[in-house]
Amino acid sequence: MRSIPVAQFHDELKSQGVKSHMDFAFRCPICKTVQSARDLIAAGAGKSFDDVEGYLAFSCVGRWTGAGGHKKGDATGRGCDWTLGGLFRLHQLIVVTEDGKEHPRFEPASPEEARAHAAKFEEQAA
Ligand SMILES: [Zn+2]
Repeated sequence: MRSIPVAQFHDELKSQGVKSHMDFAFRCPICKTVQSARDLIAAGAGKSFDDVEGYLAFSCVGRWTGAGGHKKGDATGRGCDWTLGGLFRLHQLIVVTEDGKEHPRFEPASPEEARAHAAKFEEQAA
């Protein structure tokens, strides 16, 4: 378990080196699927970054695609029904805001993963 101040969380996201906050990428702690706001929007969780911000790094995109529970051996990438708002607290990261509140979040993806993930959406748009 890692507990970091919100400023460090934002630094880690900036270090992903993606062009837009839409491409900040996180890894679901259960199914390990890398996901960004673009995935949530594509899955119908909302229409804009503001719509999906509350789900980002908190609820797996699989919740909107009907992926269901993650079973051992399932391929990474299909998502799962995990949310950090549930009964079981299996998160690995806590972001502490300036008011001292603790917010469980998915771990940011590595810069390589985030950029590769963003590139997938650029290919689709091209
Ligand atoms: Zn998941």
